[in-house]
Amino acid sequence: MNIKDIIRKDLLEMQPYSSARNEFEGNARIFLDANENPYGASFRGVTHLNRYPDPMQKELKSRIAELTNTDTTNIIVGNGSDELLDLAVRATSVPGGSNAIIVPPTYGMYSVAAATNNVKIKEVLPDENFNIDADKILEAADKNTRIVFVCSPNNPTGNLAPEEEVTKLAEQFNGLVIVDEAYIDFANNKGMAHLPQQYENVFVMRTFSKARGMAGARLGFGFGHPELIKVLNAIKMPYNVNNLTLEAGLSALDRTGIYRSQTERIIHSRELLSAYLQKIKGIKKVYPSSANFLLIKVDEPVKLYNYLLQQGIVVRDRSNMPLCSGCLRITIGREHENEILAEEIQNFFAEAKPGQQQAPQQPQPQQQPQQPQQQPQQQDHSSRTRRRTRETDILADIRLHGRGIADIQTGNGFLDHMLELFTFHSKTDLLIRASGDTHIDIHHTMEDIAITLGKALNSALADRKGMNRYGFLMPMDESSATVSIDTGGRSMLVWDVPFRNQNVGGIPASMFSHFFRSLADNAGFTINISAAGNDDHHLIEAVFKGFARSLKQAVQITDNRIQSTKA
Ligand SMILES: *Cc1c(COP(=O)(O)O)cnc(C)c1O
Repeated sequence: MNIKDIIRKDLLEMQPYSSARNEFEGNARIFLDANENPYGASFRGVTHLNRYPDPMQKELKSRIAELTNTDTTNIIVGNGSDELLDLAVRATSVPGGSNAIIVPPTYGMYSVAAATNNVKIKEVLPDENFNIDADKILEAADKNTRIVFVCSPNNPTGNLAPEEEVTKLAEQFNGLVIVDEAYIDFANNKGMAHLPQQYENVFVMRTFSKARGMAGARLGFGFGHPELIKVLNAIKMPYNVNNLTLEAGLSALDRTGIYRSQTERIIHSRELLSAYLQKIKGIKKVYPSSANFLLIKVDEPVKLYNYLLQQGIVVRDRSNMPLCSGCLRITIGREHENEILAEEIQNFFAEAKPGQQQAPQQPQPQQQPQQPQQQPQQQDHSSRTRRRTRETDILADIRLHGRGIADIQTGNGFLDHMLELFTFHSKTDLLIRASGDTHIDIHHTMEDIAITLGKALNSALADRKGMNRYGFLMPMDESSATVSIDTGGRSMLVWDVPFRNQNVGGIPASMFSHFFRSLADNAGFTINISAAGNDDHHLIEAVFKGFARSLKQAVQITDNRIQSTKA
């Protein structure tokens, strides 16, 4: 097998476009070769946007080569791995003559890349557990088959393709074997990026879009034989990856720790969610997953899909794909998002026994115009409060009886996470925007957010008429927090939360008592919090959850003469 035999003959001799940036190599003082504006623009710290990007992405490639023990001549970088798919099809297949094999259910872009190049698709089904079968694929291949697409872990099924099957294909198939490893970081498996060194006809694709959290930047890369890479480079758009994206990619490679810990967090959540969903009676199957999503099988997927949509949750209906009847694909979200999802799926099966008509849930009623006139003006218990100081500008928009919808941007990821937990567990709707020196001084930010949120709560509570006033909660998690609240108007904080470390989530631990004190002061709450546990992160999570849940009790409307905004 010679790689040149599977590349389109005409392309092997093609002369690629030669850009100014291609023709000059080395260091120069003054660049007057590419008709750029010498003054230029800067955007988010990227100062060289006036210059064309490096068409060969040398720096990024050499970092990737270093990290993966390969050579830069084995690497192609693309505008997302979707671009690489298209390039690979064009490099190998003759429009109107060639065909390609996919193993459905799988990623939809393979067929699209083939179709846009007038390449026919042949489908070879896997077994009922979605395992690919190299023999069946080889049997289906004919002299015009140029590509076999293997997705591992596969989208939407989440399973890995066994390496033996892929090497069997590589050995016996006279075309290109594309192994798409977009989700490999979520698998307990090193992947197959080493195969191209052994097999000339294997091309392995990876992406920054999934585990590396950069879907919006459009950055993918692939490993292949240098001859193949050369042709892919020759036929791609010269400046296919822009400077902002290159910069983002390089800095992502420097921040491997963050992405690893996020990936671990997602894997952990996947396993928790999977175990939880498996216990729900109406779910017939939760497929094992090596990716950042779960495929579940239910009796009435469209009904569940629509129910979730009404609750503001979008998942992917995959029930029309081969072997996927009844299947929905659920991406693993943040912890509180997964909790909301799990709760709503639970509700679906509790409320709507399959087969019976599900009454569509109405959105929260707006203020009814026929309300009796003695109602004070703030009956919807919402408030928008803005507070500006020299250092910060904070906006807090809260609706006490909401649905747990959070839109939080404090400039600090950990604080965002805490306030999202708060929103979910209090079933408020909360928007927070913080700007100013938020990235420099967490102290100002946290204090000002607490003050603003406290004021917003105070104003949303209005005259507090008809409400419970008291909340008390003692949840039993791995960390326990006991929280009581009295919203009656007196400000006090009792705080007994022993942290083990000086910092939690990058925030000085002492800031949290400060936060709740400022909140109590401005909301007019008496808050009593005590908590214990071994892990500071879980401890502070328990505090925010406990606070949220007891606030939810305290603001519950109990007096029916006041408009009942059902919690
Ligand atoms: C998301 C995904 C990709 C990523 O494509 P990009 O263009 O890199 O964002 C590739 N393959 C599969 C199977 C995917 O699901």
